[in-house]
Amino acid sequence: MKNLKSFVMEYKNYLSEYLLKGGQDEVLFEAYQRLIKLLDESSAQAANILDIHNQVLKEVLNIKQDNDVVQWIYIERATEFLAQILIATDALLLTLKESVERDPLTGLYNRLAIDRILSKLWSNASMTKTPLTVAMLDIDNFKDINDRYGHVIGDELLKEVSTVIKACLRDKDVVMRYGGEEFLILLPETESSGAKKPLERVRKRIEEGVFTEARIKITASIGAAVYPDDRPLSMEEIIEFADAAMYAAKAKGKNRLVFYSHLNGKN
Ligand code: GH3
Ligand code: MG
Ligand code: MG
Repeated sequence: MKNLKSFVMEYKNYLSEYLLKGGQDEVLFEAYQRLIKLLDESSAQAANILDIHNQVLKEVLNIKQDNDVVQWIYIERATEFLAQILIATDALLLTLKESVERDPLTGLYNRLAIDRILSKLWSNASMTKTPLTVAMLDIDNFKDINDRYGHVIGDELLKEVSTVIKACLRDKDVVMRYGGEEFLILLPETESSGAKKPLERVRKRIEEGVFTEARIKITASIGAAVYPDDRPLSMEEIIEFADAAMYAAKAKGKNRLVFYSHLNGKN
């Protein structure tokens, strides 16, 4: 909260100006522009703003010792002011949260978003008794690509691969960048028979595509785990299962899709 002191000061200045000048829109507009610049993620929390507002309002009302009726008008105006600032900070918080949860290279959700998104899908699946497939995709031999073409081309390839993955899936499916060249794919309301088709499509499109201006050919290995069939006990465990299946796909020769249910020599 490095800007907190200046935020409180400015809030007080604008609030008193707004109260005393009869609630002018221009004051509110200027306050909005100025205050938003001073906010960061913690000071933008509604509870913090409310604290600041109450503290500052008390000071302003103490300075202006008008009669009760006038003070009441001030309080009404102050509430108006607070409501406008809260609307602004709410929008700001949303954008902050969005940008923190995005991977700058691919624009996909990053690891920070997993908890929020997967836990929602997980509880939805367990409450409504609907299936959920979680898949881990890892690009094969990606180190060689970097070594041969350099990191800039490697980065470009990751961007293009993420576009291909998204294009193969439904809007309600979620793709996240789990790590360097690993992607986590969430398929809500999908059991293994339904997951096989889109995941195979992803694998095939990657195999058949050519990527970047260097026209690179690559393949990917995919591991998938299914709730409830694989009986994962938690969302962490379903990711572990998908990861184990992905490693089995690597061990079997890469460029393939393996379901967790097929591990342990069942297939
Ligand atoms: P495997 O088939 O077993 O998956 O082999 P691999 O080479 O893909 O896997 P490994 O884990 O050995 O290497 C992953 C490489 O991915 C290491 C690193 O050079 C590369 N990498 C990770 N993150 C990035 C990134 O953001 N950009 C680029 N260009 N390369 C990355
Ligand atoms: Mg990897
Ligand atoms: Mg790899």
